[in-house]
Amino acid sequence: MTITENYQRIRAEVPDHVTIVLACKKRLPEEVAEVIEAGATDLGENYVQEAEKMFDALGDRTDKVRWHMIGSLQKNKINKALRVFDVVQTVHSVGQAEAIDRRARTIGKKLGALIEVNIGGEVAKSGMPPEYAEIEKLARRISGLEYLRLEGLMTMGPFYGDPEALRPHFRKTKEIFDKLATPGLPDTDLRYLSMGMSDSYRVAIEEGSNMIRLGTVIFGERPV
Ligand SMILES: *Cc1c(COP(=O)(O)O)cnc(C)c1O
Repeated sequence: MTITENYQRIRAEVPDHVTIVLACKKRLPEEVAEVIEAGATDLGENYVQEAEKMFDALGDRTDKVRWHMIGSLQKNKINKALRVFDVVQTVHSVGQAEAIDRRARTIGKKLGALIEVNIGGEVAKSGMPPEYAEIEKLARRISGLEYLRLEGLMTMGPFYGDPEALRPHFRKTKEIFDKLATPGLPDTDLRYLSMGMSDSYRVAIEEGSNMIRLGTVIFGERPV
């Protein structure tokens, strides 16, 4: 199967309301160009430096897609990230949100923000611990920032071999997402629940995901 066939097959398989973000780490610009030609609308990158290279290599094609930061964003990389990204899916603290907002203001670019939830509460993982009060506090702060617009939540979930083991974590993230809609925070657009990858997107969609992040099932096994 080619990249185009893989993309089109999965695009046809998942419901229309589900956004597919292509996880591009370690892929070649030709491969990413192919998936854009096949109709991809959203790209995800994990590292700012790789994202800049991809962005420059793709030239005019970059205009056709929305760029998502799906890896952790270091403070010293924010300025460079702003040139490429439209959405940061890994916002996890008030300090980080304020830093992004401050830099974005200087260039007048508004960004979408997803709060990353470390739903398994794992010590070595990034993201907010799954404590609702803390997540709402961060959401309120983002809602007050002019250059960041809160668009939803993202979670990776713990790494299990079996996607069924992720189901309770996805369900819990959906509960937090729904609860966050109730205070009616101003200047927010809570639309996206970003969860599910190549091995787990079906379970994630069953549990309410409307944004899946796919690499392997589209591009094939990642080169090491
Ligand atoms: C790599 C990556 C994905 C996609 O992983 P696959 O298993 O290749 O589909 C999704 N989300 C994040 C944050 C990633 O780093």
